[in-house]
Amino acid sequence: MTKIAVFPGSFDPITVGHVDLVERALPLFDKVVIAVGLNSQKQSLYSLEQRLDWLAQVFANEPKVETGYFQNLTAHYCQTIGAKYLLRGLRNASDFDYEKTISQLNNIIGSGFETIFLISQPGYSHISSTIVREIIKGGGDASPFLPPQVRIKPMEF
Ligand code: ADP
Repeated sequence: MTKIAVFPGSFDPITVGHVDLVERALPLFDKVVIAVGLNSQKQSLYSLEQRLDWLAQVFANEPKVETGYFQNLTAHYCQTIGAKYLLRGLRNASDFDYEKTISQLNNIIGSGFETIFLISQPGYSHISSTIVREIIKGGGDASPFLPPQVRIKPMEF
């Protein structure tokens, strides 16, 4: 049976922390689908097309990685594509508290879906898309936190 994991997130934008997580997860699965979740409550900085384009560029040479997007429930998206595993990263205790509840809910809604958590490497645990967006919006250089394929100019005001 093909082991497919969905790695859901906003990826607004993808950071080196996300890339590290995917690379470490690849030996565990036959396929990892990085899926951009569209959240009507959350205003994104970058368009869906731009985020998907960056994901495709970053993993262009990795045949086990696919990309996609979804609206509504992650569990329903997983069912649509035949995935039984979710991949998430844990950077700190607040990630854990939040993820624990979501994982338990997905296990019920998805009839037994398992969430596989990878603990962030120490060098990446301070990196989040939120911080990266703040740096960009503040006119700073976020390149140390971004994969080389993601070239973003600081915003000018
Ligand atoms: P969300 O909006 O769902 O938090 P993100 O795109 O911010 O989406 O993150 C997606 C996933 O990637 C989450 O599980 C998050 O914990 C994980 N992640 C983000 N940054 C890192 C990092 N630096 N190290 C490990 N995991 C990370």
